[in-house]
Amino acid sequence: MPAQIIDGVKIANKIKEGLKEEIQKLKAEGKSPSLAAIQVGTDPGSEVYIRSQKKSCEKMGIEYNLHKFDEKITQTELADFIQKLNQNPGVSGIILQMPLPSHLDARYLQHLIDPKKDAEGVSPTNMGMVVYGKPVLGPCTAMAVIELIKSTGVELYGKEAVMVGHSDIVGKPTALLLLDKFVTTSVCHIATGERGILPDYVKRGEILIVAVGKANLIKGEWIREGAIVIDVGINRVGGKIVGDVEFEVAKERASYITPVPGGVGPVTTAMLLKNTVEAAKLQIK
Ligand code: NAP
Repeated sequence: MPAQIIDGVKIANKIKEGLKEEIQKLKAEGKSPSLAAIQVGTDPGSEVYIRSQKKSCEKMGIEYNLHKFDEKITQTELADFIQKLNQNPGVSGIILQMPLPSHLDARYLQHLIDPKKDAEGVSPTNMGMVVYGKPVLGPCTAMAVIELIKSTGVELYGKEAVMVGHSDIVGKPTALLLLDKFVTTSVCHIATGERGILPDYVKRGEILIVAVGKANLIKGEWIREGAIVIDVGINRVGGKIVGDVEFEVAKERASYITPVPGGVGPVTTAMLLKNTVEAAKLQIK
């Protein structure tokens, strides 16, 4: 039987619906949530993400302010600007759009964001809370992956998961969040692929999450029968957006699978809104 398609838009709408009352309450208390986005240069992928953030925020009644900078901005100038946003009581959440030009140190700049305003959950403090199993403002994509897995209603305790990709923002925190649910989790990366043992790992996964950025890296025939497949990858192929998993074959073997687009992306944006609302609440405390 073909897999059930996990509808990311539906899950995102449910999360956003749940936020509406909280936003009204915050507004009534004079603590209206707002998101400040920083963009350096004009990366086309980033432009798309920014438009979607702006639209989503406006629909929810969250103020969205985009601060655009020329790509020649220095690290010190950008650092000063982040500090200003940190000190501005009218700003509840801050997001530093990637990619940054190579002369800017993204990790250093993310470290400067006040952890209570870190809407993407990428500061060391917020990542550290994931290690402790107590995310406060959790990394949006990793939190989205967990929501998507939870939406299947499948018992996670004792399951075997395989996380392909070990980036700081997606792969590593997702693996930690799964470990915390007593899921036995293997993490694969470039060296797993180079040794030719990636298929062996993928075949074990009752839950498979892929966040690499290479179209069709994961062959459909590798998918374990009945697996839950979460495809984080975004690749442009022949004018179409596709994931990292060979979808058409994989969906014949999996029990649940996310489409690309329409899977992880909308839930990640919903998590950004959720974090912005949480950030506004943290600043009242
Ligand atoms: P990243 O920082 O480039 O990380 C990619 C990871 O894949 C790295 O850990 C890399 O390992 C690993 N890798 C590369 N080639 C591999 C191979 N042949 N076999 C196994 N692992 C391999 O990317 P990211 O930020 O995690 O994003 C990954 C993908 O997800 C991208 O397509 C991105 O656009 C997408 N994404 C989507 C959303 C969403 O909301 N839908 C959010 C974030 C990211 P090494 O470091 O060892 O090379």
